[in-house]
Amino acid sequence: MTAGEIALICDGEVYGDPSRTVTGEAYLDNRAPVPGGLFVALAGTRSDGHDHAEGAHVVLGSRPTTTTTVVVADPVVALGRLARHVVRQVRPRVIALTGSHGKTGTKDFIAGLLPGAVTTVGNLNNELGVPLTCLRVGDTTDRLVLEMGARGVGQLSWLTSIARPDIAAVLNVGSAHIGRFGSAQLIARAKGELIEALPADGLAVLNADDTRVMVMAPRTPATVRTFGRRGDVTWRHLELDPLGRPSFELALDGGWFPVTLHRSGDHQVSNAAAAATMALAAGESPHDIADRLGRVGPTPHRLEPKERVDGLLVLDDTYNSNPDAALAALACLDRIGRRRAGRTVAVLGEMHELGPHSADSHRQVGALTGIFGVDAVLAVGSAALPVAAESGGVHVPDRAAALDWLQANLTADDVVLVKGSRAGALDLLVDELLGSV
Ligand code: ATP
Ligand code: MG
Repeated sequence: MTAGEIALICDGEVYGDPSRTVTGEAYLDNRAPVPGGLFVALAGTRSDGHDHAEGAHVVLGSRPTTTTTVVVADPVVALGRLARHVVRQVRPRVIALTGSHGKTGTKDFIAGLLPGAVTTVGNLNNELGVPLTCLRVGDTTDRLVLEMGARGVGQLSWLTSIARPDIAAVLNVGSAHIGRFGSAQLIARAKGELIEALPADGLAVLNADDTRVMVMAPRTPATVRTFGRRGDVTWRHLELDPLGRPSFELALDGGWFPVTLHRSGDHQVSNAAAAATMALAAGESPHDIADRLGRVGPTPHRLEPKERVDGLLVLDDTYNSNPDAALAALACLDRIGRRRAGRTVAVLGEMHELGPHSADSHRQVGALTGIFGVDAVLAVGSAALPVAAESGGVHVPDRAAALDWLQANLTADDVVLVKGSRAGALDLLVDELLGSV
């Protein structure tokens, strides 16, 4: 596409050479320029992309720069329009998923089930990540898998206007990001926008075990198929191995297929079933689905089991935390702990994005450790104080103090869950702990 064509699609104006052709991907980070790519210049609070356009081939921005620039009123909106144009031209089958937890993990399952599909990389699930992913489709792309995050009412409507889904799943409605939304009702309203966007011949994939998801069914014109303990795609004979990895039989299209996952936690069975339901609708055979599910590895830092050389088992769940995800993680810790000689230890950091629900949510997580009979609780960071108060555990102010406590108190037979929101950087604690013998 030339700069001139981009300007036409985005309702912009070219400053520089309109015949300059974009041959590479769109990108946001000027420190990693893509040869022949389209640099989307954003004005951030700390730095302004427009001031760093040197080295870029073509820029999409809100003012002229030192290189050929398509100037538009709002580069984020323009990026969406450009992506919409490309998706409409190529017409891949669009498979989209949202939910409070497990989007990235489920998306990684689907990526493993649909060879050749273009899928979201990592967690690029917002108004920037979704169009950037759409712009990676090529002429021969026939399936596009998009993780879509809803950070407020109206967000998914915008994302689905960029790439209208043919198959769309709502995994669950929980309390993640409740601080931004205000209430669980608003979260449900926002997530339902995904299946409202489906055409009548599309497929809505809903979690039969989550009432707040199932009540969305009347909002879609599409056919509904469910997954879950009570779903169309369901499972039986679930067992966990010593690392918490589930084996089970999955019901697909009337048959039962044995599956062993390379991920820990029985909540992954629900995510795998959701992915299988979407893959089935996208034309994959039940046999291939069951076979490929077992080949998908863990998503980094999502309840990822890591063994220290002396045998200490660490469950690295440091990507994110909220009460629902903590429930899933503590259940897994409990299941694994029963198989080991040592104690169960939960290192619980701060949970962010909970707004006024913060103290209550931390208290809930503290109470959950009691319900699961966790042997030792270590709460890290000031916001996590209620975790310690509720559980009767130990509180430390920071990572360094946490490491000191762990080194003084752990034995190699123990299993340690480390969980907290990204900003707390407890992944570094996991690294230090693994390297500490
Ligand atoms: P984000 O909103 O940050 O994009 P996400 O929805 O993509 O999050 P993941 O990154 O896949 O979610 O997982 C985040 C956390 O949720 C992990 O800690 C994981 O253990 C937990 N989790 C994953 N699936 C489920 C589930 N089905 N139920 C409860 N918790 C889950
Ligand atoms: Mg994600």
